[in-house]
Amino acid sequence: MNSYEHSVSLDLSRCTGCTTCLKHCPTEAIRIQDGHAKINPNRCIDCGICIRICPNKAKKATYSRMDKVMKYKWKIALPAPALYGQFEDLENVDYVLQGLKDIGFDDVFEVSKAAELVSAYTRLYLKTNGIAKPVISSACPVVLRLISLRYPTLREHIMQLLPPMEVAARLARQRAMEEHPELAREDICVCFISPCPAKVSYVRNGFGDYQSEVDEVLSISDVYFNLINVMRREQEPQQLSESGKIGISWATTGGEASAIFNDKYLAADGIENVNHVLEQLDNGNISNLEFIELNACPGGCVGGAMTVENPFVAKARLQTLRRYLPVSQTQLQGEEKEFIPQNIFFDKLPTYLPIQRLSENFGESLRMMAAIQKLHEELPGIDCGACGAPNCRAYAEDVICGRAEADGCTILRSKKLEALLLQKEGTDDSQ
Ligand code: SF4
Ligand code: SF4
Repeated sequence: MNSYEHSVSLDLSRCTGCTTCLKHCPTEAIRIQDGHAKINPNRCIDCGICIRICPNKAKKATYSRMDKVMKYKWKIALPAPALYGQFEDLENVDYVLQGLKDIGFDDVFEVSKAAELVSAYTRLYLKTNGIAKPVISSACPVVLRLISLRYPTLREHIMQLLPPMEVAARLARQRAMEEHPELAREDICVCFISPCPAKVSYVRNGFGDYQSEVDEVLSISDVYFNLINVMRREQEPQQLSESGKIGISWATTGGEASAIFNDKYLAADGIENVNHVLEQLDNGNISNLEFIELNACPGGCVGGAMTVENPFVAKARLQTLRRYLPVSQTQLQGEEKEFIPQNIFFDKLPTYLPIQRLSENFGESLRMMAAIQKLHEELPGIDCGACGAPNCRAYAEDVICGRAEADGCTILRSKKLEALLLQKEGTDDSQ
């Protein structure tokens, strides 16, 4: 579990220990210790919320730099469809794709093209006998990690198809090898242009036993500033785009789900809503649905922490852009119309990593649970965060698990002191 390579990190020199991130982390992964935030790597799901809300810009995403990518002989850009929503008045995606070539990429493969393929395969997948329904989309890595950490019974609901980023990576590499047989594997850099840090973690760690086909990940924000310097909209761009409305709609909530052409779906965004839906599903309170699309970021991928534009503005821009596009530019061919190719599946679901288990020993876990409950009842219950934990229950757990000092609650300490003084006064008066 400790070997998981995260993409969200802390710049200690900027952190003032203000507790803003502590209060917002959805998995209670943050504590304030010695005046600074500290992330528990076993709990972090790389959702990027702490990056978005830190007032001091102390949390940051780690990803590749452009100069590293440019050292490869053959560089392929895989733009996430959320990239298109960053530009004002964009009427033609080709301006962006041409721009990617102008900043140094040798080829461009749209993730929205692969998304159209995945949509078509999803429609076939949902017809498969024996799969657990509702099927949960495998596209958002935060959702996948959240399920691995908290909802073991929901793992079998995860759609066992690769997400568009991976399908795009495979097809892009294949195209490069076919068109340029002189290139060796290590000459090619398949580079995803990402809206969020969770995709960086996915690429670094894989999923289950699947290892990513993406070589490097750049952030949309870095690439955006390179692109605006070269995009010349007065010149007609080369025709490069190979996707339509369906593919580009994956950038916003509901885009993936609406492409299954079946209204028995649910689409939710924002980590709190996602958690709520998973809880409901886990408790058996959601039925009669075929498909669930969950996006951890507000508005979908356009709300990722590595974008530049407000997600609602980006969404509005994509709506306008879609007007100029065909529904889809991807048709399944031959056998694919009936069978999903074997290489689109991932074989193994990720292992359950129980963050809430207190001890390997069941009896010991029960004992600890009772001790946490007892301590929690003694605490003031105002969840002030002064102890460095996000709430009184988390602090009680930290104390019983040996991660925090027992006298960390300042309110409880002063109450005890007050009681002692009163007791002493009482003793003095009686003398
Ligand atoms: S939000 Fe968190 S990381 Fe940012 S300054 Fe406050 S405590 Fe530190
Ligand atoms: S990335 Fe998300 S889960 Fe990880 S520490 Fe930040 S807010 Fe918590």
